[in-house]
Amino acid sequence: MNEFGSPVPVNRYEATDDWHAVDRYFTSTLVREDSILAVARDSGDATTMPNAEVAANQGAFLEILAKIAGARRVLEFGTLAGYSTIWLARAVGEQGQVVTLELEPENAAVAKANFHAAGVSHQIETIVGPATESTERLINDDTEPFDFVFIDADKPNNPAYLAAALKLTHSGAVIVIDNVVRNGAVADAASADPRVQGVRTVAEDIAAHPDLDGTALQTVGEKGWDGLIIARRR
Ligand code: SAM
Repeated sequence: MNEFGSPVPVNRYEATDDWHAVDRYFTSTLVREDSILAVARDSGDATTMPNAEVAANQGAFLEILAKIAGARRVLEFGTLAGYSTIWLARAVGEQGQVVTLELEPENAAVAKANFHAAGVSHQIETIVGPATESTERLINDDTEPFDFVFIDADKPNNPAYLAAALKLTHSGAVIVIDNVVRNGAVADAASADPRVQGVRTVAEDIAAHPDLDGTALQTVGEKGWDGLIIARRR
């Protein structure tokens, strides 16, 4: 594992030249990653977890999903440099809001500079601290429900983040969880990796919840072999 909790691909699954080429093809053909987003991506180098943001085509995927969901209020776990946050802020539009939760003050500072440059600061509230505590406050404050949740922080806490998301959303809300394949490690029930167990438990929690429909998709690309869970409240 690398320092930011993403799996380091073993040779067998290292991102191949072909995967990179396909990402480059689709990103250059379909994805509107403008210079502001490119700068935000590069600024990840100034955070505690360089290169941990979603790929450009994944950011665009989040934007489209949020638009399909008609999301006006988005909750994000794990801001980093705010790359995915900017995609989501663009999805919700001028009248929408993104609340993004980040543990590290230095990452939040990098993100806020990017939000300013992107002209979306007024749409984003960045809350610094452990996300379990931040969500506890949002729940206690009776925060207006969210329409869309993106969970992309520390993976062992995925089950706690799902539980919080369920208290902070309404019927019809969409919940997306990143990095759920982890180079295939998710299929190893005996894994001693708490990040893998965090993914497995959250998948089981979704399956057992009477009000949730869910599925998962594997992805390959410049970020290696990984994937997303997508769930929706009935
Ligand atoms: N969503 C970002 C993007 O795609 O641009 C990437 C987020 S990065 C994978 C994970 C982030 O979660 C890091 O910035 C890390 O500091 C943050 N994080 C880790 N543990 C956390 C916690 N307990 N509470 C809140 N944020 C946390």
